[in-house]
Amino acid sequence: MWSPRGRSAPDACPGALRVHAAADGNLARVRVPGGRLHRRQLAVLGAATADLGDGGLELTSRGNVQLRGLAPGAERELAARLWEAGLLPSETHERVRNVIASTLSGRTAGGRLDVRPLVDELDEGLCADPALADLPGRFLFTVDDGRGDVTGFGADVGLVAVPTGGLAVLLSGTDTGVRVPPSAAAGVALLAAHAFLAEYADQGGGAWRLTELDDGVRRVTARLRAALDPATLLPPGEPVSTTTPTRPAVGRVSQVDGRVALVLTVPLGRLTGAQVAALETASADGSGEINITPWRTVVVPDLGTGEAGRRLAALTAEGLVAEATAGWVGVTGCAGRPGCAKALADVRTDAGRVHAAAGPEGSGLPVHWVGCERRCGRPTDRHVEVLATDEGYQVSLDGRSRSRLMTLDETAAAIAAARRGT
Ligand code: SF4
Repeated sequence: MWSPRGRSAPDACPGALRVHAAADGNLARVRVPGGRLHRRQLAVLGAATADLGDGGLELTSRGNVQLRGLAPGAERELAARLWEAGLLPSETHERVRNVIASTLSGRTAGGRLDVRPLVDELDEGLCADPALADLPGRFLFTVDDGRGDVTGFGADVGLVAVPTGGLAVLLSGTDTGVRVPPSAAAGVALLAAHAFLAEYADQGGGAWRLTELDDGVRRVTARLRAALDPATLLPPGEPVSTTTPTRPAVGRVSQVDGRVALVLTVPLGRLTGAQVAALETASADGSGEINITPWRTVVVPDLGTGEAGRRLAALTAEGLVAEATAGWVGVTGCAGRPGCAKALADVRTDAGRVHAAAGPEGSGLPVHWVGCERRCGRPTDRHVEVLATDEGYQVSLDGRSRSRLMTLDETAAAIAAARRGT
């Protein structure tokens, strides 16, 4: 069977039911469409990792949550807890509920549309459509409220609110020219997913993303246009240009309703049990909602100004980071040792040693630490790469190595210089 770009096997993306066997036990990934959790759901996740996993929660580059260190078979108990909490609405579709949405949409200025209802409609439509269970686990939707923060992820299917009042439909970051009113946008996004599946089948299967299809954007756009009712479309407007993803500001953020959202960096994207408990407590002072972003930050929205100050102090006391320039801001890493058998180093511990003691480097370029040349979780935007090798860490920027380094102090100095672009 022919397979686009050499893919010979279905994608192996883990889910809550189909776990990944890692070196430190099984890993389960729980999809959180739009990154929105209720505090009760966060509490369920926290209790699940305390009882069944290693006690922490990992945040992923798509705003999902991972539990590590699960014993064989523990996923059945986990699934029962997730279902009860509304975190596993479909067993058949659990791996395809990949939806990233604008952070703080409807709460802060900068967007043109509150996309939260649209994300819910898209997720419900996805789960209700049996054929869409066949999407690859890497297939991604984005819903951008017009502030331009998530369109740059180059999702397989992207919706972005445009100045003329509707939403543009993008495929792999390319504007298709299709414009839809908000009431039709979720349905058109699902039609685009069907168009992908039809082209995927015609090309023999095997693609994990739309860009892996032969001439995928043009062919899927043609299939989508053929499936659309022209009467439901809006006139095409100015083309949408894709920008790089934009991380939300860290710290206290003013909402349009006068309340405050707290945006906090989670060091290396791993929440401890104490941090989970502090977030849950803080969100009780607001609407009970907690947002997870693709930048490994968490958001506690809808707080009064007095409560925000108190809760900010409690959250930072647990190690969450509220300073926009702290060394931890923009730092990510793969699993490394001991979670990954391929890793050449314990990159997360080493990153902790470097960045916890760093100066105000968070205003510089992002940094990504990887334990081997597979470079898992590599950000899509410009960043400093710290790669473990047999001879120490290699620090690179724009694909150019800044020498192979033997000590952590030398590595730290090279990272600091690279973040400043010097
Ligand atoms: S980059 Fe290498 S070491 Fe890190 S998680 Fe991926 S395979 Fe493992």
